[in-house]
Amino acid sequence: MIHRCTLCDSNSLYLIYDSGKGVSVTSVSQIHSGRTQVYYCPSCCHVHTEGMVDTADYYSEDYNINLSHEDEDQLYEMNGERKVYRTEHQLNVLTSKIDIGSCTHVLDYGCAKSSMGSKLLELHKTLDLCLFDVSSAYETYWERMVDKGNCAVSETPSHWNNKFDLLTSFFSMEHIVDIRAALKHMISLIADGGKLYAIVPYVLGNIADLVVIDHVHHFTQESLKYVLEDTGFCDVQIDKDAHRGALVVIATKGKIQKTVVPVAAPHVETQIRKISEFWTGYANRVRQAELAVSGALAIFGAGFYGMFSYVCLIQRERVKMFLDNNTFLQNRKILNVPIVSPTEITPEVEGVLVGLNPTIARNVIAQLPSQITLQRSLFFFD
Ligand SMILES: [Zn+2]
Repeated sequence: MIHRCTLCDSNSLYLIYDSGKGVSVTSVSQIHSGRTQVYYCPSCCHVHTEGMVDTADYYSEDYNINLSHEDEDQLYEMNGERKVYRTEHQLNVLTSKIDIGSCTHVLDYGCAKSSMGSKLLELHKTLDLCLFDVSSAYETYWERMVDKGNCAVSETPSHWNNKFDLLTSFFSMEHIVDIRAALKHMISLIADGGKLYAIVPYVLGNIADLVVIDHVHHFTQESLKYVLEDTGFCDVQIDKDAHRGALVVIATKGKIQKTVVPVAAPHVETQIRKISEFWTGYANRVRQAELAVSGALAIFGAGFYGMFSYVCLIQRERVKMFLDNNTFLQNRKILNVPIVSPTEITPEVEGVLVGLNPTIARNVIAQLPSQITLQRSLFFFD
């Protein structure tokens, strides 16, 4: 139970989404034991998820999409025939907004492997790049990029204070429970007039962000602007279109810190409610499908929607397989349930739950060979 808003300290926040079950999905489509409860703060428009009880409790570690190989990346979009990966897109957006060539000292904050830092060094070899994370798990990656003195874990050395022309944070702020303390730490490291450049998931642009259990913060434009200004940043510019499903923000370290009053925005509250209702309705429809057939089930889709469908089921042991066209996912297992090509569906399967983004689900299924869908119950959740 969250009693007060981490951003504005209001006590008016209320439960806006509850998975009602003790199993949830993470942002990398892992299944995690724990109930997802999401709170809305009408005072500053921020959305909070109750922190995971045991963050070490990922029990599907063999299914970690992006960490198993150093070079793995997520596909962002197709540019004609060419694949554009997420880090490449992030670099394009960053360099279109910031003149990296004019920066001397750059800190990648909450950087994990710092794949972006590595790309920046390729472009600007003389850049003084420093790396910071709360975890020491990435030090072997860092050592290949920069000197040991440019790395810090948990705490930063005092000579880093007021040092950096640019502090970057790529998809890290949504994980930091005490985000105000982190922002104050960041501002103490930025030189006067220096800038913060950050990307965070945008819950109104990517509705799945609301129900992932490992994002403690779901920023709206309103809440992000408020917390940045209230922790000492000025000239806050937020772009919701540059990166799909994310907010790109640039803010400058301010000279004087002033008190900022959060602004309520009822239209944001209405949109968050709609997203919550969508997920509650989705979960209910999955359970109705579960009751409609009595035998073995398969879930079509081993990505986020497939995992979400799986955790909504009461009798998960009835799922005999996940079907997925993505050859990268095939031949893996999720909690001992195999992921196979749709053509490998077995005769015992009576019902197929279509765990795909509803905007594409019916099209994907329509293109399958008919023996997969013939004489089986198909369930869509759109
Ligand atoms: Zn608030």
